[in-house]
Amino acid sequence: MNQSAVVQYALEPLAVELREVVVPEIGDDDVLLKVGAVSVCGSDVHQAHNTQSWTVNVPVILGHEFCGTVAKAGRAVKHFRDGDRVVSETAAEICGECLLCRTGRYNLCPQRKGFGYGINGAMASYVKVPARCLHKIPDTLPFGLACLAEPHAVAYNAMCVNSTIRPGDLVVVLGPGPIGLLCARMAALAGADPLIVVGLAGDAARLETATRLGATRVINAEAEDVEEVVRGFSALGADLVCDASGASRPLDLALSLARPDGQVAKVGWSPDLLPINVNPLVLKNVRLQGSFSHNFPIWERVIHLLDRRATMPDEIVGLTSPLEGWRGAFDAMHEGRVIKSVLVP
Ligand SMILES: [Zn+2]
Ligand SMILES: [Zn+2]
Repeated sequence: MNQSAVVQYALEPLAVELREVVVPEIGDDDVLLKVGAVSVCGSDVHQAHNTQSWTVNVPVILGHEFCGTVAKAGRAVKHFRDGDRVVSETAAEICGECLLCRTGRYNLCPQRKGFGYGINGAMASYVKVPARCLHKIPDTLPFGLACLAEPHAVAYNAMCVNSTIRPGDLVVVLGPGPIGLLCARMAALAGADPLIVVGLAGDAARLETATRLGATRVINAEAEDVEEVVRGFSALGADLVCDASGASRPLDLALSLARPDGQVAKVGWSPDLLPINVNPLVLKNVRLQGSFSHNFPIWERVIHLLDRRATMPDEIVGLTSPLEGWRGAFDAMHEGRVIKSVLVP
């Protein structure tokens, strides 16, 4: 049986197309998932432009933010059956044996391969998924929102697991992309106040969304001095700065904005290798924390938050399209016309 899929076929800019591929065969521990919705990640757009910071196994079907219905369960699968509504985590392959796998931090397994770059992803009618990746979702959570669980999990890990936020903390988020906005929302839920979101002149619409999501102040860094605004709230600086900008350079600003004994969480990244002044890290005793991916307990939390609409997920989705419209959905994100696009295969 064949299906249409969005395939990255080479490591060159715009080497992505809709192709006819074979519906995958599943193993004993897998399910065949009928994809209900798959949201487009900034990383999918990066791969389409070949500007990613990770290794891609081409040809590969894109898409790692997805949910759907179990169409067929492998013989050894115990807890899922045909018709179950589920979302999938992204660690398609892990070793299962290392220290990190054995302590539930399999997202950091050195052997980890994710959907959409290492293993075929979900921009297709069907995707093969190991059952250990799945979480059931309530009937009250539609597929069009459930697919957002993955970026929610990224933001939850960065702000609520890898960082500490107490009510009344001054939190600054650099970069109002989808992850930055979700980080801001998680910070708002955790009690951050003031909550400042920083973008550029072209981010006006995203900064408006940030305000709706709970930012108490937004800054266009091309019109205002970020340092001055932040120090207007607290002369010492921010308790936590989250760098979700998807670039290397803003780490400089993040380290500068953090108060002595404050925290910096770096969640956005890029292939750029830049000289950066790391001295404030030592001088101010700042805790610098990278944040990558997510694991089981985080997913259970964000599914609940999504189901409660606590994260205001409707604010994030700007465009829903059939799979055939993938190019328009990618472009709308690339050009900043929407925060996030969702494909419905
Ligand atoms: Zn993603
Ligand atoms: Zn491992």
